[in-house]
Amino acid sequence: MPRMGRDDVIKGTDDDAIISKLQVSAVDLGYLDDPFVKHFVKRPSRRPPLINRGSYLRTRSLDALTEQFIRGTLGLSTKTVSPPSTLSAATSSSTSSSSPAPPTPADATPLVSPIRKQIVSLGCGSDTRYFKFKSEGLSAHKYFEIDFQESTAKKAAVIKKNKAFTDIIADPELKLGLGGTELYAKDYCLLSGDLREFVDVIVPKLKAHGFDTSIPTLFLSECVLIYIQPSDSDAVVDWVGNNMMASLFVVYEQINPTDAFGAMMLRNLKARRIELPGIHAYPSLVSQQERFMSRGWLAAKAVDMNDLLASLSDVEMKRISSLEIFDEVEEWQLLAQHYCVAWAFQVKAQSENERERL
Ligand code: SAM
Repeated sequence: MPRMGRDDVIKGTDDDAIISKLQVSAVDLGYLDDPFVKHFVKRPSRRPPLINRGSYLRTRSLDALTEQFIRGTLGLSTKTVSPPSTLSAATSSSTSSSSPAPPTPADATPLVSPIRKQIVSLGCGSDTRYFKFKSEGLSAHKYFEIDFQESTAKKAAVIKKNKAFTDIIADPELKLGLGGTELYAKDYCLLSGDLREFVDVIVPKLKAHGFDTSIPTLFLSECVLIYIQPSDSDAVVDWVGNNMMASLFVVYEQINPTDAFGAMMLRNLKARRIELPGIHAYPSLVSQQERFMSRGWLAAKAVDMNDLLASLSDVEMKRISSLEIFDEVEEWQLLAQHYCVAWAFQVKAQSENERERL
């Protein structure tokens, strides 16, 4: 059997992510409502409650930030960073017929952002956020997804042949490109590329497909930048901070590699030949904030999964606690210290008028 290269191992991490997301989706356990995930999972497998809780919080917090970005409720124009009201929106994440009522959403009205906005998902894997949000009536002007060519080819094939996806894209002009490795539609583009070539290759490709540096843009990096060398991820953050008129950058990744639990986590990954070069450069909540602030971003915030769990409403906490028996309270607290969500704003708009629009 040919020896798998380092990049192949990294590409394989998407399988883990999507299986975990299937398990926490409404189809299986009812933590989240996402009818699209199942189309990407060939061999479902059961995950322990600990992992389910983590996958749920990871998805829910990034959903909430995405929703707040689309709705314009994050206050991108100000110098203050909203603390995690992070979990307070997330209309999209928590409905299940078998579960107690979900929390009342901040604003459940469907919304196509009234001002032009775009979302760029870096290392999208099989993520279904574009489809889930659009099916609920929430969309940005354009949603770009980027991953290695092998990964986008698989994703493009699943999407193109499946009515559940093409109905949501709802563009008669939807077409495959680059030998079936890319997909282009009016408000959705799946593009192939290596994030280590972000400035020289990915940015020109994005621009060729309608990417606009002058409109507010959300960059999502969900468990992705951690896999590349800090010099490469810094180049992404630098480029975004220096070239976009207004941006929100959201990162989800592992932290705290040096305590006993962190060392065990790294050993387990190493046994699977997975390395996290980013964890040594950004090992803590403070350094996750500093990765942006030291590059002149306006504001940044990082919280761990314990903080995110604590920000759930009582109703939602009760709802998820009822879904399965959860005995691993101490293990959870430890695990949760090792995963964080960080987000940062950069606004380069010159005039007050321009800022008000954000
Ligand atoms: N963001 C998705 C999610 O959370 O469901 C997928 C996460 S998966 C753990 C990591 C993804 O990052 C994989 O799909 C992998 O192929 C992608 N990735 C890692 N390094 C990359 C690179 N240098 N260029 C493009 N994609 C990359």
